[in-house]
Amino acid sequence: MRRREALALFGKSSLALLCGSHRFLRRDAEAAEKPTMAKPNHIRHFTADNPGIMTLQGTNQYVVGKENVVVIDVALSADSNMDGIIEQAEAMGAKKIEKILLTHIHSDHCGGALALKKRTGAKLGIHRSRAGYLGGEDFQYGDNDRIAFGGGELHVLHTPGHESGHCCFYESGDRVLFSGDNILGFGTAVIRPPDGDMTDYLKSLERLLGFDISVILPGHGPLIGKAEAKIKEYIQHRLEREQQVLAALRNGRNTIGDITQMIYVDVSPALQRVAEFSVQAHLEKLMREGRVKRETNRYLLLSDN
Ligand SMILES: [Zn+2]
Repeated sequence: MRRREALALFGKSSLALLCGSHRFLRRDAEAAEKPTMAKPNHIRHFTADNPGIMTLQGTNQYVVGKENVVVIDVALSADSNMDGIIEQAEAMGAKKIEKILLTHIHSDHCGGALALKKRTGAKLGIHRSRAGYLGGEDFQYGDNDRIAFGGGELHVLHTPGHESGHCCFYESGDRVLFSGDNILGFGTAVIRPPDGDMTDYLKSLERLLGFDISVILPGHGPLIGKAEAKIKEYIQHRLEREQQVLAALRNGRNTIGDITQMIYVDVSPALQRVAEFSVQAHLEKLMREGRVKRETNRYLLLSDN
């Protein structure tokens, strides 16, 4: 699928599902076409040619630094993808790609990491919880570690929710957050249990509110200028969905399928499963809070929610 087709497809389905509002859809589609602000000079990106419903225009792979640069996420091992990343590094005047970092281990973020390491000699890092996952990592990182690049450092923030080992990287000099799939340029992140966890996800978003962020550079979609507003909007969106799940349960809907049908009207078949994952993730959060119980495949309200 080409980028243009993918973008057209989002208009029909994913944003309607993920955002539930056509007004929101149009605004975000415009933002996707016209980023309103620039990235700092020492940051460039190359978008992988892997557009789709889950990847929007494709995965954003970032190059950060001056002489010695760090690459965040490598989606594809194709030569053309690696050429694109290396060209960005060269255009910044970089002499060496020193390190490769991964926001998380979904294939659209790590699929080309070993290939880029092989081609450039960069050291490949991965979150501690995923050590050995790719079989060629050189180092591991954990929450609050600092990773140096030419001209600064990245603060590692372990932000589980979308994926249990997910990390964001914060650069305090220019107040930039590389958000991976925790926050996207438009639409919302997919939370797919059991590795995806809504309780963790909301905690991760709350934590990000504690950082002074001028721009969010997401794993997919355009950069986000109003960081705090975006994070609050993300939290609000999930809390509204939770209320909708509770309302569906009160209405006697008690299976994931029935609840999904009530909440997500007009969902394209391609996104039906994604919607169900989201409902499941909300139900699991509510069970953990003692507000819902599960009997085989039925979910029942416990207290007077
Ligand atoms: Zn992704």
